Amino acid sequence: MQKLKQLYEGKAKKVFATDDPECVIVSYKDDATAFNGLKRGTIVGKGVVNNKVTNYLMQLLEKEGVPTHFVEELSDRETAVKKVSIVPLEVIIRNISAGSFAKRFGVEEGIVFEQPTIEFSYKNDDLGDPLMNAYHALALKLATPAEIDTIKAMAFKVNDVLKAFFKAVNVDLVDFKLEFGRLSDGTIVLADEISPDTCRFWDSTTHEKLDKDRFRRDLGNVEDAYSEMMKRILG
Ligand code: UDP
Repeated sequence: MQKLKQLYEGKAKKVFATDDPECVIVSYKDDATAFNGLKRGTIVGKGVVNNKVTNYLMQLLEKEGVPTHFVEELSDRETAVKKVSIVPLEVIIRNISAGSFAKRFGVEEGIVFEQPTIEFSYKNDDLGDPLMNAYHALALKLATPAEIDTIKAMAFKVNDVLKAFFKAVNVDLVDFKLEFGRLSDGTIVLADEISPDTCRFWDSTTHEKLDKDRFRRDLGNVEDAYSEMMKRILG
């Protein structure tokens, strides 16, 4: 597969066209942002960790019956994925209270839920990715009713698979964000990344944070946390 011109540069990844019209190449950067771009920095090696961790988890999910955009890892930082049009929703699943949930509802972090929660936010940086419900998404025609149903079912399935996987490496999967895309024939697949940038991971024994909260909250040892997660996941 041949890498052609850059199509897009986001906060954490670049996307390139290829000679296959159904495929693009994503290239993971070490750039880190938080609070809608207000905080910026570099996490050395993050691009490699997020590329390898995402690819490992996407392949695990495929094996468990979740369709994804993954095609082939090309190098430490680059992966071929199916070209999709992204559904402009951030889909967040939570197993334990943390982050914006704890803040919004005035509760402490660490409450273990009996059932996972799901929420959507509108992927729109100018508006600060506002929280929305499924009716709002339908009103704005961001997705069809059938697509919303598919996305919800797939998101909970991803949670079941990942929760069990992480438990086995002594990590609590606190919460995470997913994005979905449409292939050229309209099929919904899991897209984007699943990494310490987009998940909260707490060590099951010590409750140490092993994710981007170390960067957001200036907790130190950010690089160590990312490489520790890669080690636990890839073995
Ligand atoms: N998240 C993300 N991108 C976003 C917002 C959230 O990947 O733009 C992830 C975040 O890493 C966490 C989960 O989604 O694992 C829930 O985040 P939350 O709503 O608590 O927001 P935050 O506290 O990160 O602002």
